[in-house]
Amino acid sequence: MTPDLDIAVVGSGLAGLAAAHELRRNGHEVRVFETADAPGGRMRSLRHDGYVVDTGAEQISAQGYRATWQLIRRAGLAPEDVPRIGRPMAVWRDGRPHNGVGEPRAVLTGAGLVPAARPSLARFLGWSGRHRAALDHDHPEDTPLGADTVADTARRYHPGLHDQLLQPLASAFFGWDAERSAAAPLVGLLLAVGPVSAWRTYRGGMDLLARRLATGLDTRYGHHVEEVADLGGHARLTVDGAALTARTVVLAVPAPVALRLTGGADPDATGYPAASTYRPMYKVSCALDRPLAPRGGAYALLTPAGEEALLSCVIADHLKCPDRAPRGRGLISLLAAPHRIPELAEAGEDEAARLLTAAAERYVPGLGAALTATHVHHWPHGMPEITPRALALRAAFLRRPTGSVEYAGDWVAARPSSEGAARSGALAASRVLTHLATRPHQGPALPSLPQETAA
Ligand SMILES: Cc1cc2nc3c(=O)[nH]c(=O)nc-3n(C[C@H](O)[C@H](O)[C@H](O)COP(=O)(O)OP(=O)(O)OC[C@H]3O[C@@H](n4cnc5c(N)ncnc54)[C@H](O)[C@@H]3O)c2cc1C
Repeated sequence: MTPDLDIAVVGSGLAGLAAAHELRRNGHEVRVFETADAPGGRMRSLRHDGYVVDTGAEQISAQGYRATWQLIRRAGLAPEDVPRIGRPMAVWRDGRPHNGVGEPRAVLTGAGLVPAARPSLARFLGWSGRHRAALDHDHPEDTPLGADTVADTARRYHPGLHDQLLQPLASAFFGWDAERSAAAPLVGLLLAVGPVSAWRTYRGGMDLLARRLATGLDTRYGHHVEEVADLGGHARLTVDGAALTARTVVLAVPAPVALRLTGGADPDATGYPAASTYRPMYKVSCALDRPLAPRGGAYALLTPAGEEALLSCVIADHLKCPDRAPRGRGLISLLAAPHRIPELAEAGEDEAARLLTAAAERYVPGLGAALTATHVHHWPHGMPEITPRALALRAAFLRRPTGSVEYAGDWVAARPSSEGAARSGALAASRVLTHLATRPHQGPALPSLPQETAA
């Protein structure tokens, strides 16, 4: 039989768009199905009253994002479209912010660490630097950190390293519980992305790259895929109640969604998709009538669990990039502490926004009086959790035979970032090309990814 479609991609997040773009570059006809009304997934931005609200991802880096930068160039964007943030990150301790988190000089200044923990930071950085090559970010399942969780790793050092650095970073950026998530992806990512001074954001909104990539593709918005099955020689998908066939389907959605679409089947029997659990993220963006900022002037202020019960981070979006708010106004994003998200979701958006803005008054005095609107973003599948159990299953998943249904998404890369999504898209495209060219019974060797290129 001749399938209805050549290649179908489910999801227009960065993973799906990266896969679709690469497959089209290789001469395939690709159709992308997206349930939302715009591309970007967890990198979407909303535009409202002159404010540009990043609903999920906040920033990328000039370093450690090689697949992303390759896409940026291929999409015709220039480095100026991804400007440097150029502002410090801070952590709150003992009633005040401490700037310089994530900078090399933190070893000297402490950057919020209690003095007794500073030698531990030097020891931790020294150890990571010596094992840099082995802390391979593409293979976190195979590093000297083994099956340690973030908390296990932290226990080798002064407690301040956990309380004032590792816990707040893991919680604010990944929504992680340090006792559950593996240390290797975190340490590998911190080494790869470099200092905060290298971090950048997209001009005009974090969805810039996704929108640009989607423009050149056959993307069908508002189309919900309900079921996907690998029928051997081809795949079948059900879209809004209608059955379609395709030579190959790339499922570019979070692992729990992918499993639901395949009816819970774990086609490769490795167990990795089922073990790839997610953590929720909850963010309230606050439009302000004036450009208030967290005390201390950092663009991002981490609020450790030992200091703050409800928030994990306060971000001044207009300091991150001035185009996020109209001139003379401000935009502040409040990230909820991960363990409080279920109760905030239960309370409803208005009450959650009220609770989080009240808590933020301590860090951004005057926030309540300057508030003109709030936008709530709840991501039940916010970030891959990457537990040691999931990591242990990943190598077999990467070695699985190719099929008529392939997977992409940050969880495939075991990298909780948009770079993970971009890499997984390149990997899925490469596997699809191999499958269609040879239809082997065994999987190919892991294709090599594009070489690191400076931004
Ligand atoms: C609050 C937050 C902050 C973050 N901060 C950063 C950051 O600063 N830097 C960074 O690099 N990363 C960050 N991330 C992570 C980053 O956003 C993600 O890793 C990345 O965007 C994931 O892309 P993806 O394509 O794998 O998945 P997604 O973006 O989730 O894309 C999946 C797409 O599939 C669609 N879809 C789902 N089900 C169906 C269906 N049945 N039919 C059709 N379509 C469907 C969805 O609507 C979505 O568009 C953050 C994430 C969150 C939530």
